[in-house]
Amino acid sequence: MSDWRTRSFWLAQGSYEPCGPLEGPTSCDVVVVGGGFTGLWSAIQLKDADPSVDVVVIEQEVAGYGASGRNGGFALTLISRNLHDLVRKVGARRARATHVAARESLREIEEFVAKEKIDAHVENPGLLTVSNGPEQDVRIRQDIEAAQRLGLGDFHFLSGAEIQEMLHSERLRCGHFEDDGLLLDPAALARGLRDAALRRGVRIFEGTPVDALEDIDGRRVEARTPFGTVHADRGLLATNAYAHAQRELRRFLFTIYAYIVVTEPLSAEQWSRIGWDKRMGVEDKRVMPHFHRPTHDGRILWGGRDAPFSRQGPNRRRDRDPRIFARLEETFRWTFPQLADVRVERGWAGPVCGTLNCFASVGWLSPTERIAYALGYAGHGVGPSHLVGKIVRDMMLNRQSDLLDLPMVTKKPLPLPPVPLRWPAMELSQRILQHADDVGDDGGFFARVALRALQ
Ligand SMILES: Cc1cc2nc3c(=O)[nH]c(=O)nc-3n(C[C@H](O)[C@H](O)[C@H](O)COP(=O)(O)OP(=O)(O)OC[C@H]3O[C@@H](n4cnc5c(N)ncnc54)[C@H](O)[C@@H]3O)c2cc1C
Repeated sequence: MSDWRTRSFWLAQGSYEPCGPLEGPTSCDVVVVGGGFTGLWSAIQLKDADPSVDVVVIEQEVAGYGASGRNGGFALTLISRNLHDLVRKVGARRARATHVAARESLREIEEFVAKEKIDAHVENPGLLTVSNGPEQDVRIRQDIEAAQRLGLGDFHFLSGAEIQEMLHSERLRCGHFEDDGLLLDPAALARGLRDAALRRGVRIFEGTPVDALEDIDGRRVEARTPFGTVHADRGLLATNAYAHAQRELRRFLFTIYAYIVVTEPLSAEQWSRIGWDKRMGVEDKRVMPHFHRPTHDGRILWGGRDAPFSRQGPNRRRDRDPRIFARLEETFRWTFPQLADVRVERGWAGPVCGTLNCFASVGWLSPTERIAYALGYAGHGVGPSHLVGKIVRDMMLNRQSDLLDLPMVTKKPLPLPPVPLRWPAMELSQRILQHADDVGDDGGFFARVALRALQ
């Protein structure tokens, strides 16, 4: 196994004993490829619904090696860019159903973690979304209007003065507060889910790359690895950005890299300079947003802003980029000049899987309904992967349920622009949006065209 501990602050914490690799051929009912949140929640929900289903999970490295062990640890209801955007894309009725199902998943995650005694420092302090500029004020109001239209009582508008009370930064102009928004340690959650799956009888093989997942004449599935083949009735591709390797999906998915830095632990006196007593997660309203939160050991985690495309899918060389870490530190200092004496300690990155819909997509790879895929959360999969696990469960067990009517299932991903235009068009759109974010205006006509091109 490789240097997985070095891939994030979270993966470096605590002790972890990986399961051994596959040793020779085996068979099962459902083979899951990918030991992140999607693969593990799906395996657990399948077993909880029908303990007789024999489930195997195969992970190339360790549970949480991908985005699941590297993220900011925000588990949110957010699906699509924001609530306003979700209503625009799927209509009011479906947007409400999606939001309510996502909120229900947050409750179920909290309950599950408590019941299974998973020490992932899960709290529910809510989510504060803030504006740093006039164009972001507009987006805050649009979300509030969308929440009112959907009859949701869990979004509250906050004036600049109200926000300054919660978090002392002069840069914050207004915002909204959402009652539910979990903060957690993502690698600890992934490891806890692995153990919960093992307790249910799921067989898990770590350090085992799947070289090919194939539907054999619509009758069965084979997951081929260097150590043997897994023969199954059905398969789930839960490899998120790594699904770039799957020819059928490549036209719909893109990989971007997301970056995070974390400070040293703050003293009580340093915390008192910025308030933040509620310890909620915070995002801003840039098109490519910043997100920040306190960690359980008293640091500030600061991520977002730059999100470069990685044309060939995940690429370990992008896991560290000092130039991007420096840009993150720059906005941390800009937001909290009173923390000039707080040192930024380390940074890391991970691959995010995007679709032009900007939300996850769940479906069958072919009409034979042997191999399902579940991926593409556009950087917001921590909470929604639980919901997606329930959708996968219903698909695998041939159950009819309301969950199969959610847009992640019914709204198929849009194809990316054709090659050779694809990357020049998408990278130019992103540069225009990034510039608009950085100069702090709505970017005018070109930014509107660019935003349309990327969603
Ligand atoms: C830096 C960063 C910050 C983020 N912050 C947040 C946040 O705060 N909140 C939020 O909601 N979302 C966030 N996200 C996104 C979130 O982490 C993901 O949406 C979520 O973890 C996706 O889970 P997954 O299981 O689908 O994918 P992954 O966690 O990427 O899991 C895929 C797994 O498949 C394995 N795999 C790949 N190929 C193979 C193969 N051939 N054989 C075997 N195994 C294979 C990988 O090793 C990996 O473990 C962030 C992402 C990043 C990178």
